[in-house]
Amino acid sequence: MSELEIGGVTIARAARTAFSLPVPGVDEAHWPIVVAIRGREGEPFVVVTAGVHGGEYNGIEAARRLGRGLRPNAVRGTVVVVPLANAPSFYGRSHNGSPLDRKNLNRVFPGNAYGTATERIAAALAAVLGRADAVLDLHGADPMEDLHPFTMVPDHAPPQSEALARVFGVRPILRGSSPGSMVDWLAAKGVAAILVEAGAFGHLNEGAVRLHYDGCLRVLRHLGVLRGAKPAPLTRPWERMKWVSSPRTGFFYARVRAGQIVGKGAVLGEVRDAATDIAEKITSPVAGKVLFVKKSMATSSGNSLYGIAVAEPKPPSATGARPARRGVSARRSTPTRRETSRGSRRS
Ligand SMILES: [Zn+2]
Repeated sequence: MSELEIGGVTIARAARTAFSLPVPGVDEAHWPIVVAIRGREGEPFVVVTAGVHGGEYNGIEAARRLGRGLRPNAVRGTVVVVPLANAPSFYGRSHNGSPLDRKNLNRVFPGNAYGTATERIAAALAAVLGRADAVLDLHGADPMEDLHPFTMVPDHAPPQSEALARVFGVRPILRGSSPGSMVDWLAAKGVAAILVEAGAFGHLNEGAVRLHYDGCLRVLRHLGVLRGAKPAPLTRPWERMKWVSSPRTGFFYARVRAGQIVGKGAVLGEVRDAATDIAEKITSPVAGKVLFVKKSMATSSGNSLYGIAVAEPKPPSATGARPARRGVSARRSTPTRRETSRGSRRS
């Protein structure tokens, strides 16, 4: 890859090139920001994205520092940093979808060049991401999300994705699926990609920024983009998220925090009917660690309120006996009204 062009912009060797990625049909103020750091030689093409959700500042800040901090003469190959993928959501302070079309950028990949603004932004990003050797998508809890850090590797991802997750170093490492998300689409294309969450309540938090920033540097050393000792990978077993959704519309009161360990049947919170004040308790369908709590008093039936990490079921044994997955894997079990695999989680 001697010649490299992104969105009509030539990315020169031994240089840093910053620009707005053109999105035809969308106001230039809303184009994603791109900072490309290209070394004198080498092939790996790594993309780091942040700000897919505009209120998740820790990823944005880590990517900003990365884009400014990497020196072209220290890089082998090319690192393309997108510190602000979703400018309409960021400047519009809109955390539940773009203010332009109310769509969640992380549910519309690979987008549509002739669609709504969010779909067009996804299409412009997809044209860059689809050429990458590795993609790191940094997220960080919007203002209504209490969160414990985690890394998500899409189901059916190529094997290199697991190495990226283990080297990045944020645990637990979950396998899962979110149709239309950037990393799911990349997995289907055979591109190694992971999503990392760190932070809580939309706060810009130095510890969460460092988790993202240091993880990116570890992956870049692992891929040989940066010189330095190869980082040791995490060896923890896989986990999977069990989503718990709202049983009704009304006033929601959480009784647990992100990071808490809960037993099966533990009371997680309640939803009260706005008119009758009748409370419906929400209990945990599994034992595990709470990674996500939606701390919004307003809830609608079916909204995802909690994400609980549980151990990944063991793979089928060598004798061919199939293990029972029921009640453990949110994706493979039949969702009930209270326990759905997707709900409205926005990562
Ligand atoms: Zn997010």
